[in-house]
Amino acid sequence: MTTSPPVTAPPRRYGHFIGGQWVDGREEIDRAAPATGEVVSTVAAGEASDVDAAVAAARRAFDDGPWPRMTGFERAALLHRVAELIDAHADLFARLDAEEGGKPVRLSRGDVAGAAQLTRYAAGLAVQMHGSTYTNNGPDFTGLVLREPSGVAGLITPWNFPVLILCQKLPFALAAGCTVVVKPSEMTSSSTLELARLYAEAGLPEGALNVVTGDGRAGQALAEHHGVDVLSFTGSTATGRRILEASTGNLKKLSLELGGKAANIVFADADLEDAAEGVVFGGFFNNGECCVAQSRLLVQADVADAFLAEVAARAEKLRVGQPLDEATDVGALIHDRHLETVLGRVEEARRQGGEVVTGGGRSPEASLAAGQFLQPTILDRVTPDMSAFTEEIFAPVLTVSRFETVEDAVALANAVDYGLSNSVWSKDIDKALPVAKALRSGTVYVNTTIDAPPTMPFGGYKMSGVGREMGQAGFEEFTEVKSVNIRTGKRAGTFGIGAAHPTVA
Ligand code: NDP
Repeated sequence: MTTSPPVTAPPRRYGHFIGGQWVDGREEIDRAAPATGEVVSTVAAGEASDVDAAVAAARRAFDDGPWPRMTGFERAALLHRVAELIDAHADLFARLDAEEGGKPVRLSRGDVAGAAQLTRYAAGLAVQMHGSTYTNNGPDFTGLVLREPSGVAGLITPWNFPVLILCQKLPFALAAGCTVVVKPSEMTSSSTLELARLYAEAGLPEGALNVVTGDGRAGQALAEHHGVDVLSFTGSTATGRRILEASTGNLKKLSLELGGKAANIVFADADLEDAAEGVVFGGFFNNGECCVAQSRLLVQADVADAFLAEVAARAEKLRVGQPLDEATDVGALIHDRHLETVLGRVEEARRQGGEVVTGGGRSPEASLAAGQFLQPTILDRVTPDMSAFTEEIFAPVLTVSRFETVEDAVALANAVDYGLSNSVWSKDIDKALPVAKALRSGTVYVNTTIDAPPTMPFGGYKMSGVGREMGQAGFEEFTEVKSVNIRTGKRAGTFGIGAAHPTVA
């Protein structure tokens, strides 16, 4: 057992957070900041036994603890207190995620504001949680449909939006009355652990929230665990598939938010200034390390050259720099292997006929030489048979393809295995809305991009996942419905075999 004091300056050191206690691991994992190579935090390397302990704590808290038995108002009050605490610690969270994840601190601050907003929204859902009643099942029957918490929820989160994606899941699970075990990415665990500390400070009962840190082995143990009733994961499609297989042991309920290969479809009749701003934002926001990154620009041929010139000029003005510098637009990629993979992808696209319009290599800035910095890159003449068109690159790399007709645009946008999001830019709603309906993705933005109000459900078609986060639908992922069929009055022989009465197969 260890006490893990609030540490804000690196190097930080944390144990797991299990049953309200800080618990040391047998082994530890160092995290080197991707911008500098210096170790900024050390976390416990979770093993299956740590996951067992955390799931057991969550199970006790669910079966015997006060959290699932509180009223919606009581749960909401606690979530509101947590939201206040997140706001009060906004600088800390923004810095932790920027330092460990390499993302610009300015964007990280937006993530923290989003995390507080999601927590407040979930508080409202806690109050509203209710079932329904059927009074039309016959005069002697009343049907109650109860909505209940699913039980113990496992949450596995990635490194690109550590505190934000956590809050797309955690307050929703807690609002429903679930108890939780979180496994954050080994690369960006500090903000999750600090958030657990704030939940405890706000008065969350012991065991209702547990955090086991570690690499994919800890995630795998959580996905396999028979004590977990519902599992929510965000990350790569490859890992999502492994989690799906691992979860079959007890057929736990699953929600998987996976990769994407979104298109920004720009029609000639769009407000091209707005569209250019949106394309640059959608392509390079969060270093392009974003599941909804609009990493493919599909532009109508008659305006393509001029539009691309405008987009390239804006991309060249983006400032690549240290994540903690307020002026930075594009920070450091998550780790050196990822940067090498991305450089390989750019080279492959070049070999396959793509043209580098801007960028294409590491940042030439001498002051950034110790970190994983890529120049914002635009690849033109990318066609659907090229891997840069179909595969997630997860970096500030934008591909450009041209189209002639509305039908071509829809076909190109849909010609990938992913279906998380797409954007449509046109001033003609008679065009934009049918295109939005024809796109095979869980989200479509029209004349905007990467906006995600907590009220709107978020998730994927095709290989971008199953289930939804946020909105009422995201909340319901952490609930079960139970039908209670009540008969009043005397049976008068109607229960006999062969007698007619409402039944199920
Ligand atoms: P992963 O999908 O491997 O990681 C996401 C989370 O799952 C992390 O907490 C990770 O732990 C954990 N994990 C890893 N292996 C397992 C497993 N077998 N069972 C359960 N949990 C596991 O993503 P990567 O970090 O490897 O990124 C690779 C690629 O995935 C990116 O380049 C990008 O294309 C995509 N990605 C997509 C994201 C999205 O938002 N949809 C987010 C992140 C990545 P740990 O990090 O400790 O290994």
